[in-house]
Amino acid sequence: MTIKSDVLIIGGGPVGLSCAYYLLKSGRKVTMLDAKEIGKGSGSGNAGHIVPSHIIPLAAPGVVTSALKWMLDPAHSPFGMKVSLDPNYISWLLKFVLACNESNVQRSIKPLNDLGQLSAKNFSQIIAEEKFDCSYQEKGLLFLYKTEKAFHDGQHEGEFMQKHGIPVSVYDKTKIHEIEPAALDDIIGGVHFTGDSHLNPAVFLKLLSDRVLEMGAEMIEHTPVTGFESAEGKVKVVRTGSGAFEAQHVILAAGALTPSVAKDLKLNIPIQPARGYSMTMSATQTMPSHALILGERRIAVSPVDGLLRFTGRLEVGNYSMEPNPVWIERIENSAREYLRLDEKLDVKETWAGLRPTTPDGVPIIGRSPNHSNLILATGHAMLGLSLGPGTGQVVAELVNGQEPAFSLSPMRLERFG
Ligand SMILES: Cc1cc2nc3c(=O)[nH]c(=O)nc-3n(C[C@H](O)[C@H](O)[C@H](O)COP(=O)(O)OP(=O)(O)OC[C@H]3O[C@@H](n4cnc5c(N)ncnc54)[C@H](O)[C@@H]3O)c2cc1C
Repeated sequence: MTIKSDVLIIGGGPVGLSCAYYLLKSGRKVTMLDAKEIGKGSGSGNAGHIVPSHIIPLAAPGVVTSALKWMLDPAHSPFGMKVSLDPNYISWLLKFVLACNESNVQRSIKPLNDLGQLSAKNFSQIIAEEKFDCSYQEKGLLFLYKTEKAFHDGQHEGEFMQKHGIPVSVYDKTKIHEIEPAALDDIIGGVHFTGDSHLNPAVFLKLLSDRVLEMGAEMIEHTPVTGFESAEGKVKVVRTGSGAFEAQHVILAAGALTPSVAKDLKLNIPIQPARGYSMTMSATQTMPSHALILGERRIAVSPVDGLLRFTGRLEVGNYSMEPNPVWIERIENSAREYLRLDEKLDVKETWAGLRPTTPDGVPIIGRSPNHSNLILATGHAMLGLSLGPGTGQVVAELVNGQEPAFSLSPMRLERFG
């Protein structure tokens, strides 16, 4: 049996769901397909940080040196790598190393800034219009530092971002302890990105998924896409284990698994998974009053709904979604170096997710070079929640033949050659 639809979205993470929302709003009919459950993939247990301030791509000068240094201190390293001779993996690593330079940063700032600003605006609009109760707080993102060197580097980065229109405040030791009582006495300063916000990601995705269903989407879960048939420059058939689909437009938003889903499409999509972990703990007596990044250790902290979530680690090349108990414990230990935490916190949940990471740190958004009815919306790395609503809007604009809100050319797949 073949099911026909107007727009077929493959993947129900923050990106696929946001595309569905904006397409439905514009009057399109939408079918969503997910291999597992919609809204439950790599987006649900993340830190919930909405960070238009993140305009510097992962591939930047000094990253390779820092990664090598961190590997000498494996017990605290925020970064890890799979050892593998898989040619796709090696080719991705080479592209990443070559992209760690100043010109990649300069090229990436505008698209990341455009998409980040549009997404932040869309978040507050969706949450207000749809009356989503998802613990959304516009209190910024506060970086805490223990060492002069890291504080100095943080200030330098803040000044750089300020030049690109990002609101930043720098706090000395007195001020940081005034505004963040959970910070331990040896925190010497902080940098506050005041335009950022945070929310409970699982609740947001559940509310968005319910709303998308209410707006008329057909949602098909536990149905992995297994292949495609293409002809005359179009995707003609999307195959699954339980039937085939035909659609006017196909959106591919399968996160870190996009390259393997797309294997029949003869597209070289350079995405590797970067696995990370989260642990959600019971409340502590002195709860942090902000979403935080613990500077030297690169741990994210999110106080949501009376609970405390710590997230961390970036392990390139690993597809398993099993949380590693060794790293979960190390993440908690690192958080204890910065925050006034009760001696015993109950662990409510441990989780692992995959960040779909491109070698240059910019998402892939745009039409497939080989298929006029296929749009790619993937590769958002550590920003897939944050950049979801902006991606959803521009994908809907592409499907509807409108001019996108900003130029998508720096995000097209063709940039990788
Ligand atoms: C520890 C951690 C913390 C993070 N913190 C933040 C944060 O604070 N802010 C932020 O913005 N981002 C954060 N991220 C990143 C964010 O979670 C990802 O960028 C985001 O989930 C990517 O969204 P996506 O929709 O592209 O992919 P996913 O969320 O991975 O969704 C893809 C969907 O595609 C489905 N799929 C896969 N294969 C198939 C197939 N064959 N057929 C059909 N469906 C398929 C999957 O089941 C899944 O539901 C974090 C990530 C991690 C791991």
